[in-house]
Amino acid sequence: MSTQVDKSKLEQLGLPLSTEKQDWIKSKIRDIPDFPKPGIMFKDLTPLLKDVDAFTFAIDALTEKCRALNPKYIAGIEARGFILGPIIAYKLGVGFVPIRKPGKLPHVVQKLEYALEYGTDCIEVHADAVEKNDRVVLIDDLLATGGTAGAAYKLMQVLGANVVGIGFLVELAFLGGRTKLPQDAEIFSLISY
Ligand code: AMP
Repeated sequence: MSTQVDKSKLEQLGLPLSTEKQDWIKSKIRDIPDFPKPGIMFKDLTPLLKDVDAFTFAIDALTEKCRALNPKYIAGIEARGFILGPIIAYKLGVGFVPIRKPGKLPHVVQKLEYALEYGTDCIEVHADAVEKNDRVVLIDDLLATGGTAGAAYKLMQVLGANVVGIGFLVELAFLGGRTKLPQDAEIFSLISY
């Protein structure tokens, strides 16, 4: 595994992204009003996923951010963290850890319940997925209120992992989710609204 930060690669990718590059990526993300329920403006990434230049660029940029944090594992949050996370892990030559919705993982799990605006939700990971002090970067597609990523961070913490980064393709900055995430991990996103 190459853990050396390739500064020229970061510069070549233009991180942090120029407004021009952000606009280009944003042009590949489709707004779907009232999905999955009224009042939600859903950020649909599928046009980006099928655009080879934009998808390659987004993955390369996120990969270099992750590489700089020297993780032992990339942990992806179900479901769209499973689209991005494993590619990043493969590119870095590190393992991938799935964090899943309840009842999906077959072996002994560690679970964590967390509060939603109305009610609670739950995520699980295999109890032997990581070991004490393993460096982990969490990846999800989008940061909204921060509830999901915050719960995934806590879940990793319960297992003793060292979450060094939490990365997203999209951040809905106007919701302030970043401020609710632990400040000892590097929080990064490719584009922000
Ligand atoms: P949150 O826990 O509020 O930060 O929500 C983040 C999770 O919900 C991520 O796994 C996203 O995939 C999903 N999500 C929340 N809001 C949106 C949105 N507006 N568009 C697409 N996905 C969203």
